[in-house]
Order: sequence, then C-alpha cells, then structure tokens
Amino acid sequence: MSFSEQVYQELAAVVGERNISREEYVLAGNRAKTPEIPFAHPSPEAIVLPGSTEEVAEIVRICNRCGIKYVAVVTGCIPSAYATGEDTIIIHLKRMNRIVEINDKDRYALIEPGVRHVQLYPEVRKRGLSYAAAAVGPGGSPLVTYSCTGGDNHVQYGTSRPSRYLLGVELVTPEGEILRTGSLQTDSGWFCPESPGPSLRGVVRGYSGNSGKVGIVTKCAIALDMCKGPAEIRREGITPHHKMIMDSDCSRVYVFNYENIQDVCDAIIALGENEIGATVQKYFYLPLTLMMTNSANEFWEKWDTYKEVMSMPLVVHLAAHSVREREYEEKILFDIINETHGTRIPREYEQWWEDHMDYFMIVSRLQSVLRLGGSWLPIKTGAESVQHMCDVGESIGEFIHDFTNTGKIFNAPENYQIIPMEYGHFASIELLFMWDRFDPDGFKNMAEFCAASRESDLKKHYHASPIMGYGKRAEKQGVLYSNCHIWAQLIYEAYNPYIGQ
Ligand SMILES: Cc1cc2nc3c(=O)[nH]c(=O)nc-3n(C[C@H](O)[C@H](O)[C@H](O)COP(=O)(O)OP(=O)(O)OC[C@H]3O[C@@H](n4cnc5c(N)ncnc54)[C@H](O)[C@@H]3O)c2cc1C
Repeated sequence: MSFSEQVYQELAAVVGERNISREEYVLAGNRAKTPEIPFAHPSPEAIVLPGSTEEVAEIVRICNRCGIKYVAVVTGCIPSAYATGEDTIIIHLKRMNRIVEINDKDRYALIEPGVRHVQLYPEVRKRGLSYAAAAVGPGGSPLVTYSCTGGDNHVQYGTSRPSRYLLGVELVTPEGEILRTGSLQTDSGWFCPESPGPSLRGVVRGYSGNSGKVGIVTKCAIALDMCKGPAEIRREGITPHHKMIMDSDCSRVYVFNYENIQDVCDAIIALGENEIGATVQKYFYLPLTLMMTNSANEFWEKWDTYKEVMSMPLVVHLAAHSVREREYEEKILFDIINETHGTRIPREYEQWWEDHMDYFMIVSRLQSVLRLGGSWLPIKTGAESVQHMCDVGESIGEFIHDFTNTGKIFNAPENYQIIPMEYGHFASIELLFMWDRFDPDGFKNMAEFCAASRESDLKKHYHASPIMGYGKRAEKQGVLYSNCHIWAQLIYEAYNPYIGQ
C-alpha cells in the first residue's frame, strides 16, 4: 500500500494533530541536502513527532501494516537520517528529550533520544562527572552516538568509544515490540549492558552502530566517567568568535609538530604507557586551519603558513587533579617529545587550542570546517593498534597524490587524524577529504578516490575502514574481518523481517 489519507489519519490519531505534518515547507526542511551530501533526498510523505515509547511502537506497527517505510531522526546530520525512497515517513524524536535520571552513585545517565549534548553535558559536569561526546556539536544526540552511530571522539585517549559505555537499552523492534536489554531484563535497573543469557549490546549497537536497522532506541543508559579538568568552563565572546577557557592551574594544552608519522606513533605509545594526559590526538591540518580562521578568505591567506607550522600536529591536553600531578605529567611529556623528535609550535598558535578547549574539545568550533563550501567526506574511519593506524596513515601518500596533484580533490595529502583510545591500547583513524560538488566530474573524482583508498587497504590487509552492515562493499572488505558481513546479514534478517523491502 502507498501512503494515503487513511495512513495519515491513523498516525495523527497516535500523536495528535499538532505532532504530525505534511506541509510542503515542513517536508522541504527534511529533504534538503547538506553540503557534504552530493544528492537530493526524496521527500518524506509526513513528519511525525512521537512523545513516548508506546507512540513510537504504535507508529512502527501502522507502518508495517500499511507497507510504509520510516526513518528515525534527531539531528539529521548524516545521509542515513533522510528518506531514501517513496512512501517513507520521518519519525522525528525531538519531543522525547527528557534526561530521566543522572545516577551519581552508579555513574550513569538515563536519556531519551531527543536529549542534546548541550543539555546533558553541563548537568553531568556539574556533578564532577563526564562522558565522551562525538564532535558532531552541541545539538547532537548522545543517545544516537552511544547506541546507533560510530561514536569516535576527540577525548577518547583517556576514556574510550561510546560502544564501551552503552548500558541498558529500550528499543522498539522493527516488528513494533518494546524490548528492554541488559539488567532491565531482571528488573535490576539500567546499570548493566549484560543480563543472564547472551548480551544484545553487539546486536543493538556493534562497533559502528546500526543506524536504526534493528529498531528505534527510545531510551538508553550511558556510563559516566569521573571528570578530568575543572568543573566550570568560562566562555568569552559570542559564537562563532567565542573562547572557552578552563581556568585551572591543573589544565594545560600543548601542541607539538612532527616530521614523520612513526615519531608521532612512538610518542602516542609512550604517553599511553606512562598513562599521562587526558586527551592526545594527531590532528588533521585542514580542519585545524579552518577552525583557526574566521572566514574563507582568511583561510586562504593563512593556509600555506599553517600547513607548514602544523603539518603533523600532536595535541596533548593535561588535566590533572593537582598542580603537583600536572608538573609531574609535564616532565614526562617533555621527555617523550624530546625523545621522539617533536617540536613545540609557536605559542601564538598553541594559544588558540588553550582558548578553545570546550567540554567536547573544540567541538563547538568544528562546524567551521564546512565553511569552505564544496563537499567533504570522512573515510577510513576504522580502529586498530596505534602502530597499525599510523601505517595506514603513511600508506595514504602512496595513492592520494594522483588526486591532489590533479585537482580532483583538495590538495591536503596529510589530512588524516589518529586518536588513541584507552591510553593507546588502540586508536581510530579518519581521512577527511574535500572535493568540489559543483565540478561536473566532482562526484566521479570522489568515488574514484574512495575506491583507490579501499583497494590500498585490501592490498595491504589494513583494518582501516569498519564494515557497515552487509552488501557488495562489505562483501569485499569482509575478508579482512573474518567474513563478519555474513553474520551481519544473518543478524539483520533475523531481527528485521522488513529489511530490503
Ligand atoms: C560536523 C560533523 C562532525 C561529526 N563528528 C562526529 C564524530 O566526531 N564522531 C561520530 O561518531 N560522528 C560524528 N558525526 C556524525 C553524526 O552526526 C553523529 O554520529 C551524530 O551524533 C549522530 O546523532 P544525531 O542526533 O545527529 O543523529 P541523526 O543524524 O538524526 O541520525 C543518525 C542515524 O541514526 C539513526 N537514528 C536516529 N535516532 C535513532 C534512534 N533513536 N534509534 C535508532 N536509530 C536512530 C538515523 O536514522 C540515522 O541513520 C559528525 C557529523 C558532523 C556533521
């Protein structure tokens, strides 16, 4: 059946007339392509705004009965948050925005999908607690990051990925049933992802998240860490020209530059072995220059200088509990930097980092990277050992120059970041490239570059890109990951009888 007046009325009966719309101006806002998405999305038929888990379940059951597809959305930051075909509705979860509980004792927060980082993080920090937030920005949904999407973030050196912190989950399955996982099974509360019997955390979330393929998450608990750094962060100025200042003698930011990636690798491993630092990352120089400048014109004025001064920058944030601890960490840090041939960048550049260390680490500035226009794409977003990730980084130079030297993509061949996790026990990588979506060959160039990157990984047996589900691309990559795409397909089909319809 296709979307009809009757389906609209059934949905309206669930959420109320106020919380459903098919007005053209509302639909238009939910199919607009963002700069990094090179195609226009088909229009959804309607937007529904449920207010509770029961309403979500009821909507899913109506959709199944009437053959309507649906997409769950909070922010709509990535292509999978839009309609991809006809007869699709958007289930917008922004009304479900309650922080249900912050449990200081057992250190978890219980949240609904519509809760934003800007809502949760200050509440948590006030209590001396913290959590690792993706760099998507203050408007992103912690629930989505923790239970549905990738989750790598800039503070994971001293913590980890959200996949490690997901606890109890409430989910509306594709069949419209309400499922509660982990310790909820035994009425023991939200504190634990496991319960008697097999854990469902891998199915609900896995490594890269399922983006809603096994159901709509309507509540989840995320584990909280002790906060490193001052409880208060002072803001000066007005966004986007603001500063976020940590007024604390225990907090310091240092930025070092390197000439080769093996030295960076040795430094990251040594820092982790000594368990010093709250945040460590080999950052990428193109977003960095975009964040450090205030307009596209200023970017072009400064790009040549900045890419030289910070060609391979290693950013280290020390957040100790006492001045004595900070001084101790500084001594070790500078020894490691000397031994690994790093050089401290001039203070005028380093000061920028000191002035923008907000709670996500520079994240509220990150949207500036979209300022150049054109289009951008992150690829190679996998994780493995620090050495493996650095080898992957080095291998980019073997194929990228064919594209940068010919103007097919933006000329920034070393534009990849490596972020260690759990004090360097493993690390993630991201190669971010920009291309011109107004160039008639732009899309083709982008696709060829992605293919060259994948070929390189296969040839060298690099675990550089996580497998996303199954299908043709996963099949190719699957050989690098014990053919896990076969299991992914079996799991998706078992949990979602409507998949592929
Ligand atoms: C500038 C920028 C920086 C980013 N940086 C990062 C980063 O550092 N790390 C990172 O991991 N990601 C990053 N992202 C990607 C992504 O936006 C984030 O993962 C984001 O937090 C997802 O949350 P959201 O609210 O934006 O979800 P949406 O964009 O609304 O949805 C994301 C996906 O999850 C599905 N979904 C939404 N809600 C639910 C639900 N309740 N149940 C099931 N499925 C659901 C959607 O259908 C969609 O497939 C970035 C994106 C941008 C634009």
